[in-house]
Amino acid sequence: MKHKQVIFLLLFFIMIIILVAVYVLFLYEQAEKNIYSNLEEIVKQDAEKIKLEIQSHENALVAIAREVERYQIKEKEEIFAIWNEYPPKNTFTRMAIMDEEGNLVTNDGKVLDFSEEKEKFFASNEIQITEPRKNKIENNLIHIYSQKVKVEDMELILMLVLENENYEQIFSKNIFEGKGHSYLQNEEGKIMATSNTNYTKSKEEEIRENISEKERTKLYQELEKLQENLQTQKNGNMKIKAIQQNYYVSYRNIGIHNWSIISVVPENIIAEGIYSIIIVSTTLMFFITLCIIISSIYIVVQNNKKQKQLYQLAYIDSLTKLGNIHFLKENAKQYIKKGMYFIVLDIEKFKILNEQYGFYVGDKILIEVANILKKEGLCVSRLSNDVFAGFISTKDIKTTLENVIKTMRKRWIDGYEYVIAVSIGCYQIQKETEQIEYVLNQALMAHRRAKGNALQPYYIYNEQLKEQLLKEHTIESKMEEAIQKEQFVVYYQAKVDTKTQMPYGAEALVRWKDKENIISPKDFIPIFEKNHFILKLDLYIFEKVCQDLQKRKREKRSIPIISINVSREHFVIENFLEEYIEMTKKYQIETKYIELEITESAAGSKNYALSKITRQMKEAGFQVSIDDFGTGYSSLSVLQSLAIDTIKIDKTFINNLEQDTNMVEMIINISKKLGIKTVAEGVETKEQREILLKLGCDSIQGYYYAKPLPAEEFWRKEI
Ligand code: C2E
Ligand code: CA
Ligand code: CA
Repeated sequence: MKHKQVIFLLLFFIMIIILVAVYVLFLYEQAEKNIYSNLEEIVKQDAEKIKLEIQSHENALVAIAREVERYQIKEKEEIFAIWNEYPPKNTFTRMAIMDEEGNLVTNDGKVLDFSEEKEKFFASNEIQITEPRKNKIENNLIHIYSQKVKVEDMELILMLVLENENYEQIFSKNIFEGKGHSYLQNEEGKIMATSNTNYTKSKEEEIRENISEKERTKLYQELEKLQENLQTQKNGNMKIKAIQQNYYVSYRNIGIHNWSIISVVPENIIAEGIYSIIIVSTTLMFFITLCIIISSIYIVVQNNKKQKQLYQLAYIDSLTKLGNIHFLKENAKQYIKKGMYFIVLDIEKFKILNEQYGFYVGDKILIEVANILKKEGLCVSRLSNDVFAGFISTKDIKTTLENVIKTMRKRWIDGYEYVIAVSIGCYQIQKETEQIEYVLNQALMAHRRAKGNALQPYYIYNEQLKEQLLKEHTIESKMEEAIQKEQFVVYYQAKVDTKTQMPYGAEALVRWKDKENIISPKDFIPIFEKNHFILKLDLYIFEKVCQDLQKRKREKRSIPIISINVSREHFVIENFLEEYIEMTKKYQIETKYIELEITESAAGSKNYALSKITRQMKEAGFQVSIDDFGTGYSSLSVLQSLAIDTIKIDKTFINNLEQDTNMVEMIINISKKLGIKTVAEGVETKEQREILLKLGCDSIQGYYYAKPLPAEEFWRKEI
């Protein structure tokens, strides 16, 4: 996952947490409000009920007291009788009367000694209600309502005994499912009753006891605040902070004796409610986050897939599964090491293969070539249609390249064998700092040498190559000007009859006179063949020869047969011959005086087309000759299908003639059978001439008789 995406996820997570926190806080606040309003309601109701209850208790006592005073009833039995008739008596456990000595008698005949606390009861003329106290008779918790009465000169205390339970029953039960409780406190802050009998002590006391030193002061302040509030505000709400937890408190003065009722509920009842919400929210959050993480991962995976697809599109060739030029440029750096070789490989005449066998076979050939290269090279890439490149690490580059070429040469595809010729340009890396563009350029330079060269289909870059290419470049830049300035001139080399030793014709050979330099055709013809300037030059030479022959004709001298070289580049042009015929017409030269020389490699590469071309040449009246015979791929059997008059046995065979006559002999014999004349090229010695004579070769062209001569000199001397 990317840095950015991680940050995004984190931010999202934080946002969710904040949202949940805000939500929980909101819920909390709402819950608090709810609690307070509930508590308030409870307190209000309880206060009302308790007030009424106390009032009714007091009323009962006051009524009895009044009767006693009014009728000055002294006898206890009589007082009890009033009590007995009084309806609300059932609320009370019993009635008691205390005299000034503290002797207490109850209506059910119990006698108790209250002398120790009698002062308290006699201290006030008002009704008094005691704090909860142990009943000396039944041992339960009771309150005593007391009222002083004067009967004659004697004071008595009338007492009504009320069980503490009485109050407890008035309180609302089950405050917050029993988690909260209320208590009643008197003016002094003493607990009079609690809603829950299980509370032996009030919660307030408990809080006071369990407190740490540190918090004690704070809590006291809080509780004092509560008492203060009770004095001043009569009712209200507050939150009391204690050690383990906080409490929500609602208080109300019940409006009698300055008593108050206080309801308390621990804060954790919210927490409990909210807890489930938090759990739900966090689970929800967890799932949302999980969903987001999963979808993010999904998106990232999809993105990666897409990127991979884009990478495939941008860097990988779909057909061969090799990288392309961009791939090469991206990855080359790690392979550029001193001594490593870089090659550019091109399938020769791939276009023709494609046309001849169809794209299906073409594609298969590309895949075959790619697979072979993959085995041999590193970072192998397909640069364009049929051009591949890659690095090769080897100790013997020549053998490696020869093997590659050999392996590719014959391939079986779907049960058919195809001949695949490739050309390779190779460059050996000199420095690690070289850039791929430079390396590629050097290999391409070398490749220019190898391309189209059937005999040497690979070329390893060397320093001279650069100079040669520079030369080529200069030649190319000067050629157009040269033809306009008539710098191309014709030299003639005589052809001699082997038997008579008499010249009967000549070959026209071009020379480039650049100022005083004479440039050999070997230096520019191959270049012109590549850039097609040869088409122009060949016709130009043809015209020059026609002009020379016309001149000769006008001089009424015998006309020799002149051979003119016609580059194979012409053959791709439909009806190229027409221009040649036109030219002969223009100079009124009969075509029979002209022999067109076609190189043998042309014969090999496009047999079918060539037989048609030679036929057309013959039909136009030209003589036709196959040049450099024996150097190309064509076999002697091909001769049969061509309409030719002569074959020129290549100089390499003549050079070797003194050692081996077999090949030449065979060529001559077969030619004889086919009615084709033979010319031996490059004959330099008498010995060679003797052998050729013996073998029955028809004519000879070579330095032995004559070198190519400038036109003037030739026409003057030779013929
Ligand atoms: P090519 O057609 O095979 O011409 C014969 C070459 O052999 C000529 O070289 C000639 O000078 C050379 N030669 C002849 N006798 C001897 C000998 O006894 N010893 C040696 N060492 N060489 C001999 P050149 O004139 O340098 O031409 C080279 C090639 O250039 C020609 O080979 C031909 O393929 C091409 N060429 C020349 N002129 C033209 C032209 O006008 N058009 C075309 N298309 N190609 C031409
Ligand atoms: Ca020739
Ligand atoms: Ca030749």
